[in-house]
Amino acid sequence: VSERRSVLSVEDVSVRFGGLTAVSGASFDLRAGEICALIGPNGAGKSTLFNAITGFARTASGRVVFGADDITGKRPDAIARLGVRRTFQNGGVLKKLSALENILTGLHCATQRRIVGNILRLPSAVEEERSSIARAEEVLRDLGIADLRDAKAEDLSSGQQRLVEIGRTLAQHSRLILLDEPAVGLSATDRANLGALLKRLAADGVAILLVEHVLELVMAVSDRIVVLNHGQVIASGTPEAIRNDPVVLEAYLGN
Ligand code: ADP
Ligand code: MG
Repeated sequence: VSERRSVLSVEDVSVRFGGLTAVSGASFDLRAGEICALIGPNGAGKSTLFNAITGFARTASGRVVFGADDITGKRPDAIARLGVRRTFQNGGVLKKLSALENILTGLHCATQRRIVGNILRLPSAVEEERSSIARAEEVLRDLGIADLRDAKAEDLSSGQQRLVEIGRTLAQHSRLILLDEPAVGLSATDRANLGALLKRLAADGVAILLVEHVLELVMAVSDRIVVLNHGQVIASGTPEAIRNDPVVLEAYLGN
C-alpha cells in the first residue's frame, strides 16, 4: 500500500474555536485503496478534523491537500465538487422518498450535466439514468437491503435509514470518502455488511477515512488507525500495533 499515490494529505492542521484548540498540529496521509480509521475519546477533535478536511471548519494553520489540489480554506461545495464525499454524524434521509430514490439523489447531485440532459431527453441522459439505477441497486444489495428498494425511508427502522444514508454517499464514484460514525444504530449484521462494502470500495482504489466508536468495525476493516486525543495525534499504526499501544490504552482508560 505504501507505494500507492497519496489521495489526502493532512499537514500540521490546527483548528481553534475562540480560546479552545480543538485540533492541534494533526498530520496524516491517506493513500488510494487505504482504509484509515480516526479514533479517540469523545471531544478529541475527530469531527472537527473531518470538518477541516471538508471545508466546514476553518483551519487556523496547516494544509490539506487532496490529490494535486491544495484544498485548505476552500468552501465545502468546492471541495465536494472536486470529489470528496462525506456523511455527517447526524445526517438524515429524505423521509418521503424510497430507499432507491434516496441513493439516486446522491448520484444525481454528482453530475450537473445530466440535469440539462434530462430536460432535453438526450439518449446519453437516459443511459446515465439507467446506469445510476443499476449502481444504486448494487449498493442496496451490498448493504443487504435490496428488499427495501421501494420502501419509503420513513417506514424503515433507524438502522435501515442509516444504511440508506451511508449508501447515498458510498454510491457516488469518488476517490475519497469520509464517514463520521457510520455504525451508530446498526445491528451486527448491518455492520458486517457495511464493513464488507467498505472493503470492496477500497479494493477498487477508493480511499476511506472512518471516524468510528465501534472498535470491532475499526479493527476489522482498517489498514491503519490514527488516534486523536485532546486534538493531537498521539498514535498511528496498524490495528495490531494500536491495540497494544500503552499510550492509546492510557488515553481511553484515563478519560
Ligand atoms: P469528537 O468528534 O472527537 O467527539 P469534536 O471535534 O466534536 O470531537 O469536538 C472537539 C472539541 O471542539 C470539543 O471540545 C468540542 O466541544 C469543541 N467544538 C466542536 N465544535 C465546536 C464549535 N462549533 N464551536 C465551539 N467548540 C466546538
Ligand atoms: Mg464527533
